[in-house]
Amino acid sequence: MRGMNSLRWILLAGALAFLACDRDKDAAQVQAKPATPAEDAPLPKLTLPPDEGPAPAFDADRAMKYTEEIVKFGPRPIGSANHKKVEDYFLAHLKGDDVESDSFTADTPEGKFPVRNIIAKFPGAKDGIIVIASHYDTNYPLRNTSFIGANDGAATSALLLEFANQLRGKPNNGYSVWLLFTDAEEAVKSWTNDDSVYGTKHLAAKWQADGTAKRIKAFLLADMIGDADLDIDRDKNSTPWVQSVVYEAATRLGYQSHFFVRDNAIFDDHGPFMKIGVPCADIIDINYGYNGVFHHTVQDTLDKLSTKSLGISGSVILETVRILDKMEPLPPK
Ligand SMILES: [Zn+2]
Repeated sequence: MRGMNSLRWILLAGALAFLACDRDKDAAQVQAKPATPAEDAPLPKLTLPPDEGPAPAFDADRAMKYTEEIVKFGPRPIGSANHKKVEDYFLAHLKGDDVESDSFTADTPEGKFPVRNIIAKFPGAKDGIIVIASHYDTNYPLRNTSFIGANDGAATSALLLEFANQLRGKPNNGYSVWLLFTDAEEAVKSWTNDDSVYGTKHLAAKWQADGTAKRIKAFLLADMIGDADLDIDRDKNSTPWVQSVVYEAATRLGYQSHFFVRDNAIFDDHGPFMKIGVPCADIIDINYGYNGVFHHTVQDTLDKLSTKSLGISGSVILETVRILDKMEPLPPK
């Protein structure tokens, strides 16, 4: 994914003014300008349920074990043998669950690639779906390095597998939960609207056409939130009321100091769903290492993660689902 914070925008604006005569060079950056900031939109009044009952269970040690197992496959870019291995690894863990694939061929600046979104569906009593998503492909331009995407790809895929453990075989009075392992999130050359989020672009179009998108109450995206130094951004390209519910969940669990201290405009797998009117929250910590030095570098390794962060991220997402299930009514789309 790609993000830009306010300070960078101020610096960029200065640079653009300085380089105004060099028009070609700046064209790409200007196109990457974020959508209208979220704070401009009025926030609907939320009907939050009382804070009662036990907090959701989440086994962070097991999520860390899954993270370790995923990175052991090595780099997992689209089109690689390791990518296929991690697909099989997910399917083995989801054996017996209601699993569907959305497979297609993506046309990219580096050629054609097979892409496979994997969806594990856990039914609920209420009419509607909450999607929890994370990408599992690793950065393509770094495919011939030791880049293993411990935080960027592995950790949040592991969260989804642990969510499956918590959901499996239990009665669910709330909405159906669909765990979505997205593919080909990463750019193959450099991030543009065309060269990025191939998997979710395809799936959003499919779910819009078949009516599924209308049934999605919220789309929660997890990205890079195994970081030991966990501070999750308030993404300006997400739906403000869904973010408010995430923040409420974090507050109820006592983890709010890890959330929303920083504003950022993030381009990520939620983009195609935002475009078709699905309420989304990108739950992401884009500042990975001082000044982002571990992001998309070979330093994105297990030692930068913590079991504690996986526990915070996992339990806040499950608590968000628990609150959404009891909110009557949800804000109109
Ligand atoms: Zn990435």
